[in-house]
Amino acid sequence: MTGVINNVQCMEVERERERENTIMDKEAEKQSFRSRHQRLRRFFLIGVHVYIVFHMLAWYMLNQKIWGKTAMVGVLSLAAGRINSAAIMVAMILLSIPLFGRLFCGWFCHLRGAIELADWVMVKIGLTEYRKLRDRNILLTTGFHWTFRGIALAILLTPVFFFWMSGKFHLDMNPEPLRPMADLPGYGGKLFAQGARINTHISLAFTDCLLVFGAILFILFVISFVMNYFYGQGAFCRILCPYAVLFSGLMNLNPFQKKITRVGDCTGCRKCSNNCAQGIDVSREIYHYNGKVVSRECIKCMQCIDICKEGVLADTASPAVSQITPRREYERRPWQNSQKHLQVIEPLSPTMDAISIIVGIVSGTVTSSLGGFWFYVGAIIGFIGFRKLTLFLLAREATKPTLRAR
Ligand code: SF4
Ligand code: SF4
Ligand code: SF4
Repeated sequence: MTGVINNVQCMEVERERERENTIMDKEAEKQSFRSRHQRLRRFFLIGVHVYIVFHMLAWYMLNQKIWGKTAMVGVLSLAAGRINSAAIMVAMILLSIPLFGRLFCGWFCHLRGAIELADWVMVKIGLTEYRKLRDRNILLTTGFHWTFRGIALAILLTPVFFFWMSGKFHLDMNPEPLRPMADLPGYGGKLFAQGARINTHISLAFTDCLLVFGAILFILFVISFVMNYFYGQGAFCRILCPYAVLFSGLMNLNPFQKKITRVGDCTGCRKCSNNCAQGIDVSREIYHYNGKVVSRECIKCMQCIDICKEGVLADTASPAVSQITPRREYERRPWQNSQKHLQVIEPLSPTMDAISIIVGIVSGTVTSSLGGFWFYVGAIIGFIGFRKLTLFLLAREATKPTLRAR
């Protein structure tokens, strides 16, 4: 089913891109992968995971809780007035955005690490359907990706809202995250959240640890492999991550924020645009916005910088260099959506598109009773399941022979 739909979409986008002779340069992509930026970025993304393992061992095995939980659960702690290391970490991330943009996303987010690892593995093992998307950097999405992420953020903050309503808000310092905001499998000696209908006690026995590890891996698998497979690389960041809303709201506020900037003459080859994992039309942005990439989707992965053979791009707060050699007028490319974005919106009617978001939110809310992170599992399965089923039925309808009146 997915194969048929993806095939059709791939062919459409492929035809347009070939017409404009903008097929990605595979060699340039390989060189970009080996560049200093990308090696350093992988070092940090792996380092974050090493830290997480170290942290969990210290917490559970050695009962050392001095660091507290340094996870994005700090968004909730911060909003609820509980100052712990997670809240401090989140405050630092938020403060970094007006200065560096979403550098945290591209360099330090452990989910991004998992998502990029999944991408690398899927390319390496040669999943045919995935390669069709990946080879042309086809990034499928919904027309309501900001709405979807916004609602996910609202759901994430719901416990804080109830906390405020209960009048319990006060500033305190405590390494523990607030209940019911703790969400990882294994927290509080239970596999699922404290109030979950199905649950099991978790000890430090090897089999129990495996169970917890398996549950965490399953959640990560859905967020990274499943999302990538159906919607192209980094799909979770582009479609569902609630923090993207929080972060992007803080971007472009500071005129001195570091941005991807044109520092030399651009030839308009569009390699940067065709390689951006977030679907940003870099070439267009530096042409239209004073030489700067202003898109709120930019996660500072630096791939555009590394892929540009002319060395035209840099991440800087300095003003852009003027374009001396005139380049051909930018033309709106047919595969771009109304936001002039390179992401491809699946061919669903706006109504069905909106319903798929509702289905995702409802199924995510149901699974979130197992713990906060389980929201993503339900939301992703509901969202993808509904859309793919709808597209399958539409494709079948379109191929039905029509009866003619004699
Ligand atoms: S968008 Fe979300 S998942 Fe993606 S890198 Fe940023 S915080 Fe991490
Ligand atoms: S910035 Fe570099 S890669 Fe992008 S269009 Fe210009 S010359 Fe090409
Ligand atoms: S614009 Fe460049 S740095 Fe930003 S997400 Fe795209 S490739 Fe990465």
